[in-house]
Amino acid sequence: MKYCKKCLQPDTRPGTQFNLDGICPACDYYFNVHIKADFDERFKILEEQLKIYKNNGSHFDCIIGVSGGKDSTRQAIWVRDKLGLNPLLVCLSYPPEQITRRGTENISNLINLGFDTVITSLKPVTWKSSVKNGFLKYLNWAKSCEQALFSSVPQIAIKYGIKLILWGENPALQLGDLNTAGKTGYDGSNLRQMNTIKGGNVEWMIDDGFKKSDIFPYRYPSMEEFNKAGIQILYLGWFWKDWSIINNGTFSSSYGLELREDSFENTGDLWGCFSLDEDWVTLNQMIKYYKFGFGRVNDYCNEGIRHGLITREEGIKLIEKYEGQISQKYIIDFCEYIDITLSEFWDNVKKVLNKDLFVLKPNGEIKRKFKVGLGL
Ligand SMILES: [Zn+2]
Repeated sequence: MKYCKKCLQPDTRPGTQFNLDGICPACDYYFNVHIKADFDERFKILEEQLKIYKNNGSHFDCIIGVSGGKDSTRQAIWVRDKLGLNPLLVCLSYPPEQITRRGTENISNLINLGFDTVITSLKPVTWKSSVKNGFLKYLNWAKSCEQALFSSVPQIAIKYGIKLILWGENPALQLGDLNTAGKTGYDGSNLRQMNTIKGGNVEWMIDDGFKKSDIFPYRYPSMEEFNKAGIQILYLGWFWKDWSIINNGTFSSSYGLELREDSFENTGDLWGCFSLDEDWVTLNQMIKYYKFGFGRVNDYCNEGIRHGLITREEGIKLIEKYEGQISQKYIIDFCEYIDITLSEFWDNVKKVLNKDLFVLKPNGEIKRKFKVGLGL
């Protein structure tokens, strides 16, 4: 395990590859391309791209997948007020046991800002059993849910005849998931290669015993369906000089976004603005940390270091203190939802513990072997 020399990204992130100087792809892009880029020029490229979609006779010019959180609130307002487009917002909602009150307030806030919004909600029985299966079999309760979240947008785009899908972040440039890289920094045609979408493959759900008729909403439309419907995906983040966790959070809270008020110890959410519509994502961040040695605090710090908000040394201290931290309450809520005991939960988590990176002590305590910022 090695850390990027500029930020605190470890090379254990799936899909990443550091350059010969030991710099991660996200830093390489940020320092060598982003800060030198001409954003007026990029905006002209965007306007050029949008010409074919603007006022082309259909009621909606584009579609945006939203949760009502920091990124989607900012995107929706920018797309409407700066780009002059008429967007349809699509929100795939969590079931009542999972969605937070804050999440429902935030989506109401977004609708109240004046948008046409389609909210879909999936059959709770399938959702719950897929969450349980995802956790017990893959140690990732969100495996199927994330596929459904990403799939709902092109599925509805095809049904409404909307040809342009806008997402915010380009995962290849902003996170370093190189599998998703497209022809340009704004081309989202390879989003389907993202680890989360798995090329649209839902066969694994059939193999796990789900009925084909139940999992239709989890299926990302095929390349052929995209081509037939003439769908293009653009990442707006590429056109945006100040796209970041903190800037999006600050902007959107000035438009009524409600942030998370829980402590860092309970969530590892340093700016309180991640996945506001549900709280179990914190479990997955902890599990990710035990699998790969990094989680949400790491993502916050990497961006903070790149943007000059914190030093690498300050980042190391924050990660040492808060990475992998979680409130017992969230674990208990989750175990109740999928009907397992707390000891079953921890037995499963410990099964995926990366033994190269962590030691499981006889008293059950998990200790990291690596040194944050240095690696192994
Ligand atoms: Zn880096």
